[in-house]
Amino acid sequence: MIKLDHVSKSYSTGAPALNDVSLNIEKGEFVFIVGDSGSGKSTLIKLLLRELVPTEGTILVNGVNVGKLRHRQIPKFRRNIGVVFQDFRLLKDRNVYENVAFAQRIVQVPNREIKKNVPSILSIVGLAGKYKARPKQLSGGEQQRVAVARALVNEPPILLADEPTGNLDPTNSLEIMKLLEEINERGTTVVVVTHNREIVNAMKKRVIAMNKGVIVSDEKEGTYVDEI
Ligand code: ADP
Ligand code: MG
Repeated sequence: MIKLDHVSKSYSTGAPALNDVSLNIEKGEFVFIVGDSGSGKSTLIKLLLRELVPTEGTILVNGVNVGKLRHRQIPKFRRNIGVVFQDFRLLKDRNVYENVAFAQRIVQVPNREIKKNVPSILSIVGLAGKYKARPKQLSGGEQQRVAVARALVNEPPILLADEPTGNLDPTNSLEIMKLLEEINERGTTVVVVTHNREIVNAMKKRVIAMNKGVIVSDEKEGTYVDEI
């Protein structure tokens, strides 16, 4: 589902952000990516989204050679991937329903489908009763649930989350991670960048640790790895 083959990424300044990384993530996996700030985690996520192109190496996402995509092919490619960020990135002046529906409107899903799909995904994320609320009327945990619903409403096979619990308290963090686990159990491949040691250690998932642009460990049922 996701394959990196000898991938490097250099920005114009400094050491390479990713340095000869090879990695395979199968369909249906749940993977944590951990590592100190600056180790290249967000660069990896941006490469998967084709926000960046690799300096060297090849990246396959759902059968697509991401580095070879033409600009006009990028929007369609990105429909394969739902994304969640630390800062939620909701539309402040729209309610919960409209924030989620927006993701369907931009890919021209008919309104009668949207009216079925949005309530259905809101109920999966536990927000069925809050569809009329504005983001500022919600807790951080609820706002992140809206972001998860928006990421998933178009049913992408892959969900990427870059520090999704970075702005949440421990209780909400655990609930969001449990939600991501449930999403994974429904069949979506899930990749989560996180600093949340307790949750990583509790969830017994594959853990890939990065340091200075390289993978320093990769374990099934792993634990949070400090700098090696
Ligand atoms: P992480 O998400 O693990 O904190 P990043 O992927 O954001 O790490 O960054 C990896 C390295 O690349 C860091 O040294 C960072 O300073 C550098 N970097 C990230 N983005 C840019 C950029 N746009 N321009 C130049 N250097 C960058
Ligand atoms: Mg980062």
